[in-house]
Amino acid sequence: MPLDATPAPLVGETACDVLIIGGGPAGSTAATLLAEKGRTVVLLEKDHHPRFHIGESLLPLNLRIFERLGVQDEIAAIGVHKPGARFVSDEHGKHTAFSFAAGLNQDYTYSYQVRRSSFDEVLFHRAQTAGADAREGMRVLDVALDARGGHRVCARNEAGAMHAFRPRFVMDCSGRDTVLATAMGSKARNPHNNTAAMYGHFRGVAPFGEAEDGNITIHLFDEGWFWMIPLPDGVMSIGVVSNPGFFKRRRGEVRDYFLETLRAVPSVARRIADAELVSEVTTTGNYSYASKVMHGDGWLMAGDAYAFIDPVFSSGVLLAMASAEMGAEVADTWLDDPARAAPMARAFEAKVKRAIGSLSWLIYRINTPVLRDMFMEPRNRFRMREGLVSLLAGDVHANANRQLPVLAFKAAFYALSLAYRFGYRLGPQGLTKAAPRALAPAE
Ligand SMILES: Cc1cc2nc3c(=O)[nH]c(=O)nc-3n(C[C@H](O)[C@H](O)[C@H](O)COP(=O)(O)OP(=O)(O)OC[C@H]3O[C@@H](n4cnc5c(N)ncnc54)[C@H](O)[C@@H]3O)c2cc1C
Repeated sequence: MPLDATPAPLVGETACDVLIIGGGPAGSTAATLLAEKGRTVVLLEKDHHPRFHIGESLLPLNLRIFERLGVQDEIAAIGVHKPGARFVSDEHGKHTAFSFAAGLNQDYTYSYQVRRSSFDEVLFHRAQTAGADAREGMRVLDVALDARGGHRVCARNEAGAMHAFRPRFVMDCSGRDTVLATAMGSKARNPHNNTAAMYGHFRGVAPFGEAEDGNITIHLFDEGWFWMIPLPDGVMSIGVVSNPGFFKRRRGEVRDYFLETLRAVPSVARRIADAELVSEVTTTGNYSYASKVMHGDGWLMAGDAYAFIDPVFSSGVLLAMASAEMGAEVADTWLDDPARAAPMARAFEAKVKRAIGSLSWLIYRINTPVLRDMFMEPRNRFRMREGLVSLLAGDVHANANRQLPVLAFKAAFYALSLAYRFGYRLGPQGLTKAAPRALAPAE
């Protein structure tokens, strides 16, 4: 599958057990775990760490993987302590904070907000110390998959020289570049989630309350939502996620449209009144997708290389690292016994899809009045609120006991949706016939 037609001389051929495309969270996690098992691993990253990447808010269930990789202290040193997530709605004139400590899973009760430049560098360096041959400035251009005859992967370094690799197993962790899915033509847009994002870094953003408490704040507005993620050194990451109609209305510069949008939402405008934009404004379009295939004989995809879902619940890095962890087990088994790896690969696929499905249920409904009202008026009947907090913490593979409150939350959503059709609305007094609310800053 040629990804780039430029012919260039080849520099030798390197044989290895596993070649991993992409040194982001997924690739570095898989490389570390496989190298620790004694496999020869080549990890190819097209950029150089530290480099900017979006995706700065992590989830409590990430901590388990940090511990397994032995990087928990390094991540604590570069991160802002994140106790939970706050949702703010000017339409309701309200806000609700969900503390991870109030969830059903008491093993992991907080997380971190990180600059991805530092975070990804820690993970990449960890792969190197584990023994992976982790190379930067190496862009994979061509992958010929043939588990029986031998895979062949070609990459170009920054001087233009082509390198060839003969891995027994290939893991695609190339993120939104989706190297394999693009080459195979297997990438499909998600018909349920057609949003895009615009974002930048600021200084001087006012905290939501009296002082910065480390929470991510999600400000809901009628066409989508904003994130505010406190980063080290007083920097605030701010982004807006909305629908294609919103982005099509832009006239003029992206930066101006971004600032105009921030100023149009009262609770956001109040916080950025004295703030200064200290970065470029970036946009990410063509948002959510999944590949129609996730694995085959001697290869698999992990993280964003397989699928991307809307980041409203900060799940991307966890999904990437967790799928890389499972994928590394599949690869390790395949290297010893491909027949034994086949059912493992199917279980890996089912588990990744289940995790994505759990979070997608919430994502597809986040702009509905019912779910927004449930977030603003959270009830703990049948431990629904605790179940929701666990889902927000990334506890997507919880046991049946922890799943029941989540099911109760979903059942309540469907029951309320029916009531809303008859003109009822959930509010502080419970379910009542209510007039629409006016817009007011939520403080
Ligand atoms: C607007 C937005 C906001 C987000 N916010 C959050 C958030 O708050 N929290 C969260 O958890 N997630 C968030 N995400 C999602 C998060 O960014 C990703 O899910 C996560 O980075 C996926 O990790 P990965 O390792 O799969 O891919 P990546 O982190 O993208 O890493 C892939 C790596 O592969 C390299 N690469 C690509 N192509 C090649 C090639 N041909 N050869 C060699 N190397 C290559 C890239 O340079 C990159 O370093 C957000 C995403 C977006 C778009």
